[in-house]
Amino acid sequence: MKYIYFDNAGTTRVRPEVRDVILPYLDEDFGNPSAIYDIARKSKKALETAREKVAKAIGASPDEIFFTGSGTESDNWAIKGVAEANKQKGKHIITSAIEHHAVLNTCEYLSKNGYELTVLPVDEYGIISLEDLEKAIRPDTILISVMFANNEIGTIQPIAEIGKIARNHGVYFHTDAVQAVGHVKINVNEMNIDLLSLSAHKMYAPKGTGALYIRKGTKIKPIIHGGGQERNRRAGTENLIGIVALGRAIELLTEEIDAESERLTGLRQKLITGVFKDIPHVRLNGHPEKRLPGNVNFSFEYIEGESILLMLDMKGIYASSGSACTSGSLDPSHVLLALGLSHATAHGSLRITLGKFNTDEDVDILLNELPPIIKKLRDMSPLYEEMKK
Ligand SMILES: *Cc1c(COP(=O)(O)O)cnc(C)c1O
Repeated sequence: MKYIYFDNAGTTRVRPEVRDVILPYLDEDFGNPSAIYDIARKSKKALETAREKVAKAIGASPDEIFFTGSGTESDNWAIKGVAEANKQKGKHIITSAIEHHAVLNTCEYLSKNGYELTVLPVDEYGIISLEDLEKAIRPDTILISVMFANNEIGTIQPIAEIGKIARNHGVYFHTDAVQAVGHVKINVNEMNIDLLSLSAHKMYAPKGTGALYIRKGTKIKPIIHGGGQERNRRAGTENLIGIVALGRAIELLTEEIDAESERLTGLRQKLITGVFKDIPHVRLNGHPEKRLPGNVNFSFEYIEGESILLMLDMKGIYASSGSACTSGSLDPSHVLLALGLSHATAHGSLRITLGKFNTDEDVDILLNELPPIIKKLRDMSPLYEEMKK
């Protein structure tokens, strides 16, 4: 079936240029990078080339890049690894209310195991206050973990400013940049980032590969123990195919970043303008400008985001909502609640995330299909009836 995919923050399709470079490693070049015969040396070389590409994309050096099994693992490693290695100095960690669960739940796990946590609130756009951050830092603070760009609302944090504050206080700064890498320009040195998580499947490469940037000299323990891979810091036979794909994907996105950012921002603004023109009682969640090029997040009052998703699905249009009903929970997104939205408004959210395969025509189709869907759902909504009285 022909469909339109608007869930690029959830995962992305593997692009053909990326698929092409991994094929030889599925076939004759399948060797284990730790072995010494010719095809294994080829694997090892491919691994190191990918490492150089990842390093280059974020302004790091290759020996600061470590491959992992996911963005989630990178977040776990950064936080637990720094916590374990620096517990002599202190046990206080600072994070934000709108982090991905890979960060929030890791921090919460630590807070139940002897560490202390400060969770910074955000403003109505999802941005933390630098003043709050500065005030939260204590002599026993060992880590600040604040995401680069939010996966739900697209808001981009003042990362360089956070980095500066962390550096001035001698506290490590980790950023979950899974949504940002390849889509927004990043330089770990200019931004004073000490640890950065990224993930391949948000960049048109396959699922199940991530990387962690660790600034040289950072005190961090491994969390996966076993063989000597990744210079004794992350055990397990390398996911060669995933890593080669990640290297090529990040390289391509970096080359394309200016043009693609401009194109996606154009589509995003067209979508926002069109929705505000045709649909009443709607709110844009996240910051109007400081947001990822491809992220749009609306709240439609008086209806449920899940119902919008189902009706879009019937039209072959795939998007996402801010309530986690799909995962068996009725709680609205912690991110939308942190912005100060009521439960009802948070439940009416719809996330459209545009990617490199989306066209102008896709946006036209959505702008055609969405208004009648919203109208139909509102016509059935008791809340809407109530409001009209
Ligand atoms: C997708 C995502 C993750 C998790 O990455 P996986 O590779 O899927 O484990 C973490 N943080 C953010 C912001 C994400 O968008």
